[in-house]
Amino acid sequence: MKDRIIRATALNNTVRVSSVITTGVVEEARQRHNLSPLACAALGRIMTANLLMTWGLKGEGSLSIRFLGDGPIGGAISQAFSDYTVRGYVGNPYVDLPLTEEGKLNVGKAIGSGQLNIMKDLGLKEPYSGTTDIVSGEIGEDIAQYLLDSEQTPSLVALGVLVDIDYKVIASGGVIIQALPGAPDDVLDLIEEKVILGKGVSILINNGLDARGLMEEYLQGIDFKVLEEHDVKFDCKCSKERFKNGLYSLGTEELTSILESDGQCETRCHFCNEVHTFSQDELREIIESRNNN
Ligand SMILES: [Zn+2]
Repeated sequence: MKDRIIRATALNNTVRVSSVITTGVVEEARQRHNLSPLACAALGRIMTANLLMTWGLKGEGSLSIRFLGDGPIGGAISQAFSDYTVRGYVGNPYVDLPLTEEGKLNVGKAIGSGQLNIMKDLGLKEPYSGTTDIVSGEIGEDIAQYLLDSEQTPSLVALGVLVDIDYKVIASGGVIIQALPGAPDDVLDLIEEKVILGKGVSILINNGLDARGLMEEYLQGIDFKVLEEHDVKFDCKCSKERFKNGLYSLGTEELTSILESDGQCETRCHFCNEVHTFSQDELREIIESRNNN
């Protein structure tokens, strides 16, 4: 199934829906960071929610989600952009815990309690930032609480990552349904009732539903109007140039000491885990350009 996002409205624009397939996105994150199944489920759900929440972002805009909990995953961070790309990482990619009583990966315990911070950067001077307490650490519930507290929008958030026994991601995706002002009072309750009784989102995707099929399944016969549809992918905005600026800001003394002790310097991007290497000559060049300024 292709990684794709769909956004739609229903019931005279009083309900807003996004659904997304992220199987490839999350598998790429798993491979890049060597994620354990538990870390993969946690980060996968966060990255999926992140893509779903970029509604309305334009130009240079981005949305960051940070789960800053006290659990053994050591924090989980994701950032999605207006160009339908997302990137993310966790503090401890190898985190492992016993399964829950229902036999599920214990994402809530891995995240722990603490704060959920969401920052919307619209390319203006000040990014908008909101923080709420983590409710369960299961991600979907936390995001729904955030949307209610910070944006006063009742939302149903369904997220799921299905990991195979060989740790490969076989199905991942999610749906967010939001009741805007004027929506029928019981619309989310009705949907939620059915969702709780129904199959999990990752099972539905594994059974072959695409983003549109997922939306149909969750809306249960409510007509919807598709506003946009787009491929999504894992992509990092880092470049050697940006790391060069970071090295530049270290100062001549520090740079000289790196040059003398190691000769070269390796910088690793947290988000994509790629290494950018600076040779002796490149380091000398940075020191020289500092000295000439
Ligand atoms: Zn990167």
